[in-house]
Amino acid sequence: MENCLFCKVVAGDIASDKVYEDDEILAFNDINPKAPTHILLIPKIHIATLNDLEKGHAELIGKLFLAAKRIAREQGFDGGGYRTVINCNRLAGQSVFHIHVHMLAGRLMGWPPG
Ligand code: AMP
Ligand code: ZN
Repeated sequence: MENCLFCKVVAGDIASDKVYEDDEILAFNDINPKAPTHILLIPKIHIATLNDLEKGHAELIGKLFLAAKRIAREQGFDGGGYRTVINCNRLAGQSVFHIHVHMLAGRLMGWPPG
């Protein structure tokens, strides 16, 4: 998708600090971390928002969360805990319109989120 920041990351046109990659998924450190660990997980195909998910994406989204589980275990914060977040559209503060899961770890998380 032209002019999509995260499609450019997938294509390698924008550098990223990769944490995990397979055929369908990429995970990389957030450039402006909101916690000691802040990883973004994205599908390699362009899906703009959670509102754009379709039945055909079900397996892919499942794999995204299985990758999150794997990263948490590999990086050793699975037991202590972490937060996953998907912001959707303006009121949630979505700023990059290529669906992504935030993984935040390494500090106590407040609830409810702001
Ligand atoms: P959201 O506001 O939910 O759309 O999240 C977008 C996230 O992407 C923010 O946390 C940004 O810090 C992060 N971000 C923006 N550009 C980059 C980049 N080039 N590499 C890594 N993370 C980025
Ligand atoms: Zn995209």
